[in-house]
Amino acid sequence: MLETTPDRRPPFCPHPDCDSRTNPAPWRFIKKGFYLRRRSPHRVQKYQCSRCRRGFSSATFSPAYWLRRPDLLPDVFHQLVSCAGFRQIARARSVSHTTVRRMSDRLGRHCLLFH
Ligand SMILES: [Zn+2]
Repeated sequence: MLETTPDRRPPFCPHPDCDSRTNPAPWRFIKKGFYLRRRSPHRVQKYQCSRCRRGFSSATFSPAYWLRRPDLLPDVFHQLVSCAGFRQIARARSVSHTTVRRMSDRLGRHCLLFH
């Protein structure tokens, strides 16, 4: 659930000032190669918006985008679903409770987008 598939189509342009969200005309993107990285997914697809000509990647839509500890996200999700507290989760993972709170906020936003 929390992993992104590298071949998934981007739903929209992630740049907030791009008119792809307000213009009802079909939005297109161009595949612009990929880059490799050490963590999973090892191959990340790069795209270019056809309207604003700016680039983004499949990692942009990932819940673990720009996280320092992406390995914690599935554990935090399952602990939050089982009604554990922020400090309780943080103590078990040896991280700060604010880290867990930020992950909870991020997971909430992604759940809203999913629905
Ligand atoms: Zn765009």
